[in-house]
Amino acid sequence: MWEWYAWRRELIRAARPNRAHEVLAAWSRRFPRFRLITQNVDGLHERAGTENVIRFHGSLWEVSCRDACGRVPSRWREEGFLEELPPRCTGCRGFLRPGVIWFGEPIDSGVLAASTEALDCDVCLAVGTSAVVYPAAGLVTGAGALGAYTAEINPEATPASGGVDAAIAGRAEAVLDELDGLLGAP
Ligand SMILES: [Zn+2]
Repeated sequence: MWEWYAWRRELIRAARPNRAHEVLAAWSRRFPRFRLITQNVDGLHERAGTENVIRFHGSLWEVSCRDACGRVPSRWREEGFLEELPPRCTGCRGFLRPGVIWFGEPIDSGVLAASTEALDCDVCLAVGTSAVVYPAAGLVTGAGALGAYTAEINPEATPASGGVDAAIAGRAEAVLDELDGLLGAP
């Protein structure tokens, strides 16, 4: 498992934020109430400079002590020491686990609370998600129920397409760039 994670981390280390990440980063500085709830664990939103990121499924760049020994923070950022596999906890020398949410595991309660709070908004965009993994898939309809204008941006239709105000078929890089152009200069 750790070899697979080490491989993914190396691939992502070489990746760069794309135009979609850049537009969202700019909007996060332009709009004070901007919130980005991401299912991505790759950290590219942070690398793009996006503010107010809520990481629904954790981060590939964080680890936690599998035994929750309490001698170290429950989750901490760790990019450099994975030469030793499996990596060990610096507090108790027990095994570490990746700081991501796996299928069937509960979403962090603080993350859920922050996400729920963010649904009280004017506009909610669901970008680049197949909208099949719950509870994340229910966020856009939740925002709509609270009165937000909702739009989906995805190359293909998803289970959420019928329930949003606008379903825009396209790649995030192209559609967000176009929307940013329509918004004009700050
Ligand atoms: Zn420990």
